Amino acid sequence: MAADYSTLVKDQKEYFNSGSTRSTKFRKKNLKKLKGILKQNEKRMESAIYSDFKKSSFDTFTNELALVYLDIDEAISKLDSWSDRKRVSTNLLNFPGRSYIYPEPLGSSLIIGAWNYPFQLSFAPVVAAIAAGNTVVLKPSEVPSATSTLMKEMVNENFESHYFHVVEGGVEETTQLLSCKWNKIFFTGSVPVGKIVYQAAAKNLIPVTLELGGKSPAFITKGANLDVAARRIVWGKFLNAGQTCIAPDYLMIDAEVKDKFLKILIDRIKEMDFSFENENYVQIINEKNMDRLEKLIDEDKVVYGGKMNRENRYFQPTVMDNVSFDDKVMQDEIFGPILPVLTFESLDVAINQVRALPRPLSCYVFTKKRSIKEKVIKELSFGGGAINDTIMHISNSNLPFGGVGSSGIGSYHGKAGFGAFTHYKSVLDKPTWFDPNVKYPPYTKLKKKLVRWLLGFK
Ligand code: NAD
Repeated sequence: MAADYSTLVKDQKEYFNSGSTRSTKFRKKNLKKLKGILKQNEKRMESAIYSDFKKSSFDTFTNELALVYLDIDEAISKLDSWSDRKRVSTNLLNFPGRSYIYPEPLGSSLIIGAWNYPFQLSFAPVVAAIAAGNTVVLKPSEVPSATSTLMKEMVNENFESHYFHVVEGGVEETTQLLSCKWNKIFFTGSVPVGKIVYQAAAKNLIPVTLELGGKSPAFITKGANLDVAARRIVWGKFLNAGQTCIAPDYLMIDAEVKDKFLKILIDRIKEMDFSFENENYVQIINEKNMDRLEKLIDEDKVVYGGKMNRENRYFQPTVMDNVSFDDKVMQDEIFGPILPVLTFESLDVAINQVRALPRPLSCYVFTKKRSIKEKVIKELSFGGGAINDTIMHISNSNLPFGGVGSSGIGSYHGKAGFGAFTHYKSVLDKPTWFDPNVKYPPYTKLKKKLVRWLLGFK
């Protein structure tokens, strides 16, 4: 039986209502404190995540911790401006008033993390929530259990539970947490669980950010720099053994360049060395996912890889050629190191085929032609993406990160993250020295004429 979290939520709401979290000084102090704790525990974090799925210290630093540190630094330096009241122009109808937008923290926030980048996907939203002046309960994914336990220790030993607290657990605990009346829920995870979270939030009209997944395509067009494209696709696909929400899920490649490209692609895979002995190639997270991935492989279509070792949960980078949209591997997000290759004769047809699928979290297009870049960007709806690269858009905090349609609701990183945990309160400030009676009854023809003029109608 999962614990009852109503006291935790009540305490956080009381603390929030006391106004303690509001000042930017308090927020900065706690962001600095969090950074200090993370830095102090870097070695422990490396060991925990290594024991969970053999993520190397290079990967832990570059794609987990560095991103969080950068987020903290940016929030500290921009917090004053982000949280400041902004004056906006006032329309003639409200002359001589003044109009303002007051950013206000939403309150008690629940953040639910996914397992594939357990530190980054937990702490990046936490940084945004703290920067915006909220209280936080973090529920990391239970799947990388050593990492989850370490996060709990680091946070709960250093922060008061009425301000920032970690609750460990799986479905039962999350279900219990979701039944509470939060002021904000921020969820990262799969589409099916995203629907559960959305429904639970709807019961109490809680605003949500849903960072979900999907099948992100990468288009390779003729005339693209195939060498660079291959390197960047191999890196983006096999980083974290393909367990990346914005990994290129499948390739859509112009039939004219396919054979040449596949040759280069396979050479690059060999060069980058994704053997089990390579420190920087991670394990598949668990047996369940090994089983799931194995079933996606059609041996007749494998042109590279296909080997796996259940004992150490190693899954070799695998390329499958001549894949069609009907194949098993094309039915759901792969979330592993299998790269299906589909060809097209006409980019228009290819775009239409992708458009028939749920809107992806990311999309990549490799081309030198401006017309092709524009075409893909304008004709396909996707969360975010890159031209002639993969994954890297996540590293620019000026680009709001999030999905569209079934790949998610809302966005974060940088100022967008601050906005995800903020209500922008609009206020019109009117002086009392001027109070014309135009809007007050009794109404006359002249008043109507005046109102029309004030509203800009002839
Ligand atoms: P998941 O949906 O299985 O789990 C996410 C969280 O939800 C975990 O904390 C888990 O404990 C909880 N959970 C699981 N089942 C639940 C249930 N029935 N009721 C309530 N809570 C439940 O996702 P995952 O396997 O951890 O992560 C993989 C998915 O997340 C992929 O689809 C991936 O694309 C997506 N993802 C998205 C992003 C993004 O930023 N958009 C980032 C990483 C992963």
